[in-house]
Amino acid sequence: MPLKRVFLPKKLVRMGSATVAPAQGANGTAAGEGLTLPAAYDTDRKTTIISVTGLAKHFPGNHRPAVIDLSFDVLEGETLALLGPSGCGKTTTLRLLAGFEIPDAGEVRLQEKVVASPRAWTPPEKRGMGMVFQNFALFPHLTVAQNVAYGLHRLRNGEKRQRIAEVLELVSMSGLGERYPHEISGGQQQRVGLARALAPKPVVLLMDEPFGSLDTALRSEMRREVKAILQQAKTTTIIVTHDQEEAFSLADRVLILNEGRMAQFDTPDEIYHRPVSRFVAAFVGKADFIPARLLEDHVVTELGVFPLHGTPPPEPVDLLVRPDDIAITPDPGGQGIVVHREFQGSSNLYTVRLPSGLSVRSVQPSLAVLDVGQRVIVRATPDHVVLFTAER
Ligand code: ADP
Ligand code: MG
Repeated sequence: MPLKRVFLPKKLVRMGSATVAPAQGANGTAAGEGLTLPAAYDTDRKTTIISVTGLAKHFPGNHRPAVIDLSFDVLEGETLALLGPSGCGKTTTLRLLAGFEIPDAGEVRLQEKVVASPRAWTPPEKRGMGMVFQNFALFPHLTVAQNVAYGLHRLRNGEKRQRIAEVLELVSMSGLGERYPHEISGGQQQRVGLARALAPKPVVLLMDEPFGSLDTALRSEMRREVKAILQQAKTTTIIVTHDQEEAFSLADRVLILNEGRMAQFDTPDEIYHRPVSRFVAAFVGKADFIPARLLEDHVVTELGVFPLHGTPPPEPVDLLVRPDDIAITPDPGGQGIVVHREFQGSSNLYTVRLPSGLSVRSVQPSLAVLDVGQRVIVRATPDHVVLFTAER
């Protein structure tokens, strides 16, 4: 069968976007010339609030460290997401920043002051960080205003009342200060929890899986609200989550952790479109990897030939394709066979077997229903070519 020629790159056109230079990963390469992503996060013009270098923590008795050689910075007003699978060290990292754990090695600076290192130690209450635990839990026996007042004991009564009124307005809860938590809705309780955390004006707000046990609808509503509130409050925030969608929708930058190590640290768009490893590619979306050969400045695969920009990793290589890169059209002469349909409500996720026996996934509209066994023409149109050294 002749190889189909696919013209790349199909541009992602976004408002106010800028073309960014191709990124190079340790074992991946994203030859993304012409790929248009939102402007990279402007790290030059912002003040660094937290600076972490070589942070490490190994709990006694564990076979591997919880956090290994972690270095990153957090800029003023940004929301940073710590993202990774369960047990990868997210909570430990947050607790090291807050001062609830002592690092084995490394340094944490908060507004240029060393707050944790082998030589220096600032206790949690002196760090000016606010910590929000799962679901922003409120004290049930205190009113909304009393809950918010909890962290304001240093203020005089008049100032306290004023600050309570300010933060309740910030979270659209003005006039409800005398209610008890059971007298307001779940979403309102969350907003009060956020108001309580913001009331003492923390230098940094730390949130550990704050939407942990909310149902899907409330989760996405809370995400939007919390994002708007944080933007308005201009509070520097670190949010821990294992949910890629949550990290992408809330954060300016995302730090991905894998088994205690940093796997990638970049904007959500860069991470999705230019993952530096297979782990990242598969963790932040659905990823299939198809064997590829390098031929001069092209990548040759079972699904077509794609132009290569930039330096590829050493062969053998695999090409990353995502379900939104794969188009399928019913055709009795098509090279692919539908082997599985997963109905996802707003879309269908098809698994299609290729002549080589390899399977790829394709996302199709909700009403595009194909039967298992149906032959289809399979076309790949990746926005850009991302290659990884194959584990063959
Ligand atoms: P995450 O929040 O990403 O799920 P954690 O930071 O809670 O991960 O845990 C990272 C690793 O450290 C896990 O293997 C966990 O079992 C271990 N760990 C975390 N806290 C402690 C502790 N206090 N004592 C011993 N092991 C711990
Ligand atoms: Mg955790």
